[in-house]
Amino acid sequence: MSLNPNSSLNKIEQLFHNYEQNLNQYQFNRLQFKLSGYKEKKLINDKILIETNLNDGQYNQTAILTGKAADIIKKNIDELFINVNSMVIQLIKWKVAYMKNEQTYIIVIYEFQYITTLEGEQYECTQYKVDQHLPVQRKVKLLIQKNRPTVNTSNLQWQPNQSSVKKVKIENQSFSKDSLIIDDNLLNISILDTSACKKQQGQFKDYQQQHQIQQQQQEITKISSMYPSMKKWVLEGRVIFKSQQQDYRCKKSGTLKNYFRIIILDCEQEIITGLFYEACNKFFTLLQEGKVYIFKNGCIGQDKTNGTKKIIFNEYSIISESQNYVIPSSPQLNFSTLQEIETLQHNSIVDVVAVIQEIKQDSESYKSFIVLDHTTRLTIKLWGPQYGKVHLQKGEIIVFKGLKFYSTNFKSLNSDYQTMIIQNQELNEVKQLKTWLAGKNIDTIMKPNQDNQTIDLSQLNEFVIQLLNEGKTSLTSYKYVYGYIIEIQEYRNMYPSCPNIRCKSKMEEVPIRKTFRCKKCLVENDSPKFSFVLNVTIMDEFTNIKAVIFDEIAVKLLGLTADQLRSMNLEDQKNIYQSKAFQQKKMKLQILFKDYSGQIQPQYNVQEISDVDYKQLTLQAIETFDEIDNLLNLSLIL
Ligand SMILES: [Zn+2]
Repeated sequence: MSLNPNSSLNKIEQLFHNYEQNLNQYQFNRLQFKLSGYKEKKLINDKILIETNLNDGQYNQTAILTGKAADIIKKNIDELFINVNSMVIQLIKWKVAYMKNEQTYIIVIYEFQYITTLEGEQYECTQYKVDQHLPVQRKVKLLIQKNRPTVNTSNLQWQPNQSSVKKVKIENQSFSKDSLIIDDNLLNISILDTSACKKQQGQFKDYQQQHQIQQQQQEITKISSMYPSMKKWVLEGRVIFKSQQQDYRCKKSGTLKNYFRIIILDCEQEIITGLFYEACNKFFTLLQEGKVYIFKNGCIGQDKTNGTKKIIFNEYSIISESQNYVIPSSPQLNFSTLQEIETLQHNSIVDVVAVIQEIKQDSESYKSFIVLDHTTRLTIKLWGPQYGKVHLQKGEIIVFKGLKFYSTNFKSLNSDYQTMIIQNQELNEVKQLKTWLAGKNIDTIMKPNQDNQTIDLSQLNEFVIQLLNEGKTSLTSYKYVYGYIIEIQEYRNMYPSCPNIRCKSKMEEVPIRKTFRCKKCLVENDSPKFSFVLNVTIMDEFTNIKAVIFDEIAVKLLGLTADQLRSMNLEDQKNIYQSKAFQQKKMKLQILFKDYSGQIQPQYNVQEISDVDYKQLTLQAIETFDEIDNLLNLSLIL
């Protein structure tokens, strides 16, 4: 086990502090861990031992629960159906023991303070107050909101019973950061690949097979009737898609872990996505595309905006092959035309048949391309390395099930966890599109009339690089672009300007005389007008640039003068800046080259700015997208 020296949260290391002296001695320092894994061993006189792993957010350590600690865990599992892997406990009484046969150290836990379960969409956190002297556990509930910002400490108090006020401050930084926020990743912490875990996985099988017999009799649940956090369900379905193992980066620990996903089709031709994080290794080889299985145990989630459902499977999930061949093998396809899609709500899930017109980006982890059908053009974006091997070709007709429509500034269709590429060129819709395309030039269909002056920002970059390569850096050029001013720097963007209209240079303060002075014109003025010099970021569909907007244009953009803005309070100033962001503008850029300490770099000055003629734009069918939104979404999927 290698320990990361930079990590502040090495709780497992703390367990072994002075372990040579403390071996087999009771210890009472309170440390919190997430449990992962469960293996029950019966002793004589009906006592049990439970083997599990303590996880500190980064590392695993094998531990044995015994006595009351074991009884309480078992009770929670058998009677309350709480998944061990969702429990967080705080050790009270424990020791380090050496197992001679295994030549390994383990932690033996006799008492712990409470169990917190991390389950469900809201990450419901239930604290079971475990009082060793009381026969009944008291249960207090609280909700942990996902990604809640700073939490006032007063919120940490228990509402229902003030006498048992206890802070659930989970000490481990990986579990919480100065608040009750429990890191999303805790839910997805994979069992680390230690030998102890591998052994445990084998042992799990015995445990699960016992349970399997009991559950065989259960009724089959339909996907259409599954709902978030549904406790007991049995799903029978065909795996119609299985991804490769993919990396995902744990947000907190920063470590790379594997996951994979499947798409399950049931007898009603409904689909649900299955995700395997902690149970990745366990089920990856077992599951085969095309086969029918019975699935049990797993956390069901649903996207409220579009109704898509998913199951996050875990170590406790039970999956067995089924001989029910009646289950269909291809999902229903409900195609919409691209024009119909444009009118849908943000996040809608759609099936699409379209032809690739232009490939914008084609890398291992991200592909974006423009497609069209007989109605209009739209951008498709495929996110993540799972599409790395997808070969895109201009003119190819491509069939997608389950793309997600983004109706943000830049409309686009995006891959999501339920997305599938359907390999079926025999579909009627494909044939119809083929017929429509016959004799047309794919390069020109519905493309905007490109006047030479208007270019997009990536073309601008190419243009600038060309000038640099050709050494034409003394030239001043002009280009028109469409773009969104996504950011206006909110500081150092106004200066006292020389009253001489032909000068307008920055005046310097002369504190002695309480006045300002222009070095060029030698003019002094004790209350000069202020001018804008705005540093902005301009974005279009595929890239962004930094540009400068001088006074005259800035006044036009912001709708007031620098002096007017200066008279406002900071809050109002901020609002003005923000209200101007994310409006699409047509801009004329002046392109100059400047020497920044030996490096020649372009500077873009915005010389004209005008509202976009949306009527014309619609005609030109500009494809648009919101990268920030997409990236956020991607991090949620993973
Ligand atoms: Zn001047």
